[in-house]
Amino acid sequence: MLVILPLAASDADLILHHGKVVTVDRSFSIQQAVAVKHGKIVAVGSDADVLKNERGPATKVIDLHGKTLLPGLVDSHVHALDAGLSEFRAPLPPLNSFATVRSFIKQQAAKTPKGEWIVVPRTFPTRLLELQMPTRELLDVEKDHPVLFDASYVLILNSAGLRKCGITRDTPDPPGGEIVKDARGEPTGILKNAPSLVTGLDRTQHFTEAEELDALEQQLKRYVAAGLTTVGDRAVDPHQIGLYKKLYAAGRLPIRVVMTWRPNASEPTAALQQQILAAPYTTNTGDSWLKFGTFKLTLDGGMTIGTAYQRYPYGAFGKQLYGKTNPDDRGQLFIPPDKLLAVMRTARNRGWQLTTHDQGGGAVDNFLDALEQLNREKPIASSRSHVMHASFQSPAAIARMQRMGVLADVQAPWLYLDGPALEKVFGYDGMRYFYPLRSYIDAGIIVAAGSDHMIGHDKNNAVNPYNPFLSMWTEVTRLTKAGKVMHPEQKITRAEALKTHTIWPAYLQFAERERGSIEPGKLADMVVIDRDYLTCPEAEIRNIEPVMTVLNGKIIKH
Ligand SMILES: [Zn+2]
Repeated sequence: MLVILPLAASDADLILHHGKVVTVDRSFSIQQAVAVKHGKIVAVGSDADVLKNERGPATKVIDLHGKTLLPGLVDSHVHALDAGLSEFRAPLPPLNSFATVRSFIKQQAAKTPKGEWIVVPRTFPTRLLELQMPTRELLDVEKDHPVLFDASYVLILNSAGLRKCGITRDTPDPPGGEIVKDARGEPTGILKNAPSLVTGLDRTQHFTEAEELDALEQQLKRYVAAGLTTVGDRAVDPHQIGLYKKLYAAGRLPIRVVMTWRPNASEPTAALQQQILAAPYTTNTGDSWLKFGTFKLTLDGGMTIGTAYQRYPYGAFGKQLYGKTNPDDRGQLFIPPDKLLAVMRTARNRGWQLTTHDQGGGAVDNFLDALEQLNREKPIASSRSHVMHASFQSPAAIARMQRMGVLADVQAPWLYLDGPALEKVFGYDGMRYFYPLRSYIDAGIIVAAGSDHMIGHDKNNAVNPYNPFLSMWTEVTRLTKAGKVMHPEQKITRAEALKTHTIWPAYLQFAERERGSIEPGKLADMVVIDRDYLTCPEAEIRNIEPVMTVLNGKIIKH
C-alpha cells in the first residue's frame, strides 16, 4: 500500500507562535511566529505561514499567548568572575548611607577579635545618601578595631587603622598617592592611590579553581535569567581566559561571551608590546560561543570616586563628595599619550579592535587623539574601535568619533544612580553630555549598552545593576533616582533603546550577521517577556521580567 505522508517542508525543531515578535530587523518589523531548527532561526512571519510551512510531526510548538518576544539581549560590559565571586561565600551588606556603614562595622566588631581589621566592602560616595566621602570620624564608631573602607582607588582608615599602619601627620605621601590631611595637618583617614600604606591586612580571598569555575558559571546563569544571551566580559587576563575555556570545554558555558583582553597598563611600553605580539589571539579568535573582542587599556579612574580624568576641575563640591584637597584637581590619567599611541598601534597592527576605559572627558579626548593618529596611518573604522564609558562627552569629541567611525560602549544606569551626585559637582549644564545617546545616534554612532556589573549578584541592586530593562528605561526616560529628568533632549526611543541591547552591541562584537535580531539564518537567541516593551507604561519598562529564554534554540524557563 502506498502511504503519502504530508510533506513537512523543513520540520522545525521549535515554533513559537501567537506572539508579538519584535524582530529588530532593518525595518523594525513586528511578526507573529518564529521557527527554529538546529539552533538557528529558519522562518519568521505570520502564524499561518510559519505553522503551515515549518511544522512537522516532531516540532515542539509553543503558544506565546500574545506575549512579546525580543531578540536575546546583550550586555556589552560585565565583569563576570569578580561579580560571581563577590557573594560566593557570603552575601554583601547593602551599604547606601552612613548609618548602614556604621551598623555594618558594629556587627562585624561583635564577631571580630579586638585589634583585627574590619573591611567595609567597596562602596562609592556618589551612591551614599549623604553624598560625601567618609572620613575616619565615621569609621571611629569602633575604636578597638582598625577599619578600612574600600572606595576602590580611595581607601579610608579609622583612627585605629591609621595607628596600626603607622600613618601620622609626618608620613610623606607615597609616589603617585596622597595622604589627605585636614586644616591642622592631621590625616583625615582618606588615602588616595596608596594601598601600599595599609599593612598587616591580606585582603585577597583565596578560591580554588573549582570554586572560580562554579562562581563564574553561576553568574553567567544569572545573566541568562535576566534575559541576556550574550555578554561582553570587559577585562579578562590569561587566568580568566583559561577559566572560560575550561567552562566551554566542559559544556558548562551557559551564555555567549565576548572577551576583552586587558593587560596591566602599568607595565613598560615594550613589555606590553611584547605581550601583544606573543598572544596567540586577537579580535574574533574563537567562535559564536566564546571569542575575543577588544584590546583594552585603562586610561583613567572613575567618576564615582572623583578620579575620572576630566576636561575641567571637580571644583568645590568635589571636596565634600570625593574628599579632594585641590579644587583644581581634574582626576587621574594613567597612561601618557606617547605610550598609549605606541601600545595601541602595536595592538591595532596585530588585528585588534581598540578601546580604553575613558570615563572623564579628558581621557576621552586622549584616546581620540591616539585614534586620530592611527586613523591617519590607516582608516580605523573597520576595526569598530570604541570609547568605553565616555561618561562626559563633548560635541567636539562626538564629531571626531563620527568622522573616524568610532563606536560607544555606554552605561545608562549610571545616569539614574550617580546623576544626582554628579549634578552637584558639575552643575546641570555640566551634565548636558553625560551619556548623550541622542547626540550619538543622530551622529550615526553605533551605541552598545552594558552595565559594568562587577560586584553583587542581584540584577537590580548589584554594583552595577545588570537588569537590561533598567538600562533601557533609563535611556528612554533619563530619570535619576532623585526623580529628575536629566537633559530630556538626550532621550532616545524605545526602539533605539532596544537596539542598544541587541543589534548594535552585536555589531560592536562583529556578530551582527549571526545575532542581534530575529531573522532567518541567525542564531536562535530570543527572550519572551512578561509585558509589552513597546507599549507598556514607560514607568514599567524597568520592571519587565523575562519569562523564557531561547538560547541557541534551547529553551530556558525562568
Ligand atoms: Zn568595566
